Amino acid sequence: MTLSELQKAGKARLQRAEIEDAAFEADCLLESATGYSRSQCLARGAEAVSERVTTRFFSQIARRIQGEPLQYILGKWSFYGRDFFVGEGVLIPRPETEELVETAISVLRENPHSTVFDLCAGSGCIGLTVAKEVPECTVYLFEKYDAAFSYLQKNAEALNAPNAHLIKADIFTDTPPDGARADLLLSNPPYIPKRELAELQKEVLREPSTALDGGFDGLDFYRAIQNRWLPFVNAGGTLLFECGDGQGSEIATLFESAKAAKVLFDFQNIDRFVQIIV
Ligand code: GLN
Repeated sequence: MTLSELQKAGKARLQRAEIEDAAFEADCLLESATGYSRSQCLARGAEAVSERVTTRFFSQIARRIQGEPLQYILGKWSFYGRDFFVGEGVLIPRPETEELVETAISVLRENPHSTVFDLCAGSGCIGLTVAKEVPECTVYLFEKYDAAFSYLQKNAEALNAPNAHLIKADIFTDTPPDGARADLLLSNPPYIPKRELAELQKEVLREPSTALDGGFDGLDFYRAIQNRWLPFVNAGGTLLFECGDGQGSEIATLFESAKAAKVLFDFQNIDRFVQIIV
């Protein structure tokens, strides 16, 4: 079989399983199975493939058909132009979160020597990107779970950000280390109301429920941040959250003592972020 025949066969299997973006996913898995880039795969389309590559590719296709997220099979995913290692136990970085990072960077442009907290850091896509984009700032990334924390460590190492500090912490019971205070607090916490968890797409259900479950109304983490972490944000500082569809204004009212709170919309025009100035 040639490389291009292999791609077609994989795509056909994905299509039969009603996977929406079958051609794109088959391309990604072919890159991963061969170790070639997209353009190398195209240029070498007429070359024969080895038994080893064929077996690897079809086993990846089978995992995908079973409902495993593409990103877990690939083992990495791009966020804000950098690859992040991902796999079971860590939330996959989402494109809308890049907009939160964009806003964070524009806040930091005013004051680059800031201290930044990233609560519920997961893969570290938010905090590590900010640390790379604004090397003058100091970023503390907090994550509770072992599996996610080990991806965080791997990503921090691969990205080499000396201004990023990783801390194993539970935001419901812990506070910042050694009196650290933030000028900018970032968080994309779990925000799905418990009763909606079962209705999620089957791929999303493969992601850790601890990264999704925000309690009864989805707002448990925002309340904990208001309670425990707001006192560690400097006057004039900013909090920037990602949230779920329809949660923005309720989160803003949790912070009624703040100087200002506004809800920001994402590229799909969903109320996706809340920015609070204290
Ligand atoms: N902060 C990480 C992200 O945005 C993880 C978020 C989470 O686990 N809820 O991807």
